[in-house]
Amino acid sequence: MPFQQRDAALARDSYYAATAPAGPACPALHGDERADVAIVGGGLAGLSAALDLAARGRSVVLLEAQTLGHAASGRNGGQAIHGLACEQDSVEAQLGLDDARRVWQLSIEALDLLRQRIAHHGIACDWQDGYLGLATGAGKGRALAHWAERIERVYGYPLVRIAPAEVSAWIDSPRFHSGIHDPRGGHLHPLKYLRGLAAAALAAGVRLYEHTPALALQTGRPQMVRTPKGCVHAAQVLLAGNAHLQALAPQLAPAIGPRVMPVGTYVACSQPLGAAAADALIPSRSAVCDTNFVVDYFRLTADHRLLFGGGVSYSTRTPPGLKSALLERMRRTFPQLPALQVDHLWGGFVDISMNRAPDFGRIGPDVYYLQGFSGHGLALSGLAGRLAAEAMAGEAGRFDLMARLKHRNFPGGPALRTPALVLAMAWFRLRDMLG
Ligand SMILES: Cc1cc2nc3c(=O)[nH]c(=O)nc-3n(C[C@H](O)[C@H](O)[C@H](O)COP(=O)(O)OP(=O)(O)OC[C@H]3O[C@@H](n4cnc5c(N)ncnc54)[C@H](O)[C@@H]3O)c2cc1C
Repeated sequence: MPFQQRDAALARDSYYAATAPAGPACPALHGDERADVAIVGGGLAGLSAALDLAARGRSVVLLEAQTLGHAASGRNGGQAIHGLACEQDSVEAQLGLDDARRVWQLSIEALDLLRQRIAHHGIACDWQDGYLGLATGAGKGRALAHWAERIERVYGYPLVRIAPAEVSAWIDSPRFHSGIHDPRGGHLHPLKYLRGLAAAALAAGVRLYEHTPALALQTGRPQMVRTPKGCVHAAQVLLAGNAHLQALAPQLAPAIGPRVMPVGTYVACSQPLGAAAADALIPSRSAVCDTNFVVDYFRLTADHRLLFGGGVSYSTRTPPGLKSALLERMRRTFPQLPALQVDHLWGGFVDISMNRAPDFGRIGPDVYYLQGFSGHGLALSGLAGRLAAEAMAGEAGRFDLMARLKHRNFPGGPALRTPALVLAMAWFRLRDMLG
């Protein structure tokens, strides 16, 4: 089954699609458009850039191949977390400590931006404060405590440390040894948020087109983005198509394609548990993530369900027995809920980079791209859009800082990079089990 069909099948049973109010209806592009900026991709990165560009007085056309928020941005676990997907010490190794501190600070600004946008645009998206990072064993607990101590000392970012004796006050689960709490993190209903941003972008004059894949890019002055029934002429272009860009239009930006790889990840949502039973599981109602390499991440929804993410597919094929595998992980985490059932099961593709650092940059002077959030982009993709908008307006310092993070191609091209990645991931999974 081709990638796009697989992805459409994964989207069908999303809890978010079943519970979000409809977004603004946007037409497909027929004919020619002119704008200061053309944006490819109607996820959080593209919409965020569109909003900021419009606020700076730039005219913007945004092209989305499917519907706005159809991909990761409208289907994710909803967890807004500090930092990047890669470890901070790998950022230090590349950029040095001072710039690594600036990068960390950007990740915190991303959390603040999320809150500001929810408040400023009045988006009802079930925002809930708080993030819990939990270790599943003593060794991992020590590593987490050491990490938190260093983040506080070196980066000046305070985290609440949760000792083994205190864990049961935060979560009613036998799986966890110790952890950290970050009150600045949190969680939300991502599709409600995204549709709120889309409405704000429309109101700000952004021309949004759905069912309009960008098929080709002709660089020049202006640039020209071709679509099935029209084209957009624009002085600047932002490619924010992420894991889907290469599948939809490999010829659009072949140079950046081999630097990211789509990896499937999956989410299940239980039946409503009732407010009291839900509160008993996670009294603070924080988002929760374990510290394993292949993470389990979960949270309570506003209607008191357990929403639980876990499992990956490096081949992009949906794993067999997915529902029972996720249900088993949910019940293992909360064995006091033997009758737990799955009401919704869906998935999507994250864009993994080799080093798991985000991959921002330019292809020529006026074509920008944002990709490689590596499964950690709910908050960061919003800030990424802001940085791209700044750079397009001539304030490139913060964008260029992120663009200094170097990336390598996955070895071997599409045919070989899957087996190579599977082998590498098998090793990390073994470490998770032993740790
Ligand atoms: C199941 C799942 C769970 C996740 N959970 C979390 C989480 O809890 N916390 C977290 O921080 N991150 C999470 N993530 C990752 C996070 O959702 C992403 O990093 C983030 O949404 C990326 O946003 P984006 O705008 O870059 O990409 P996307 O949301 O993928 O949007 C890109 C858009 O571009 C469109 N597009 C691509 N090519 C073209 C083209 N040629 N023409 C027109 N349109 C095109 C696509 O259709 C798509 O709509 C999760 C991801 C998944 C899939």
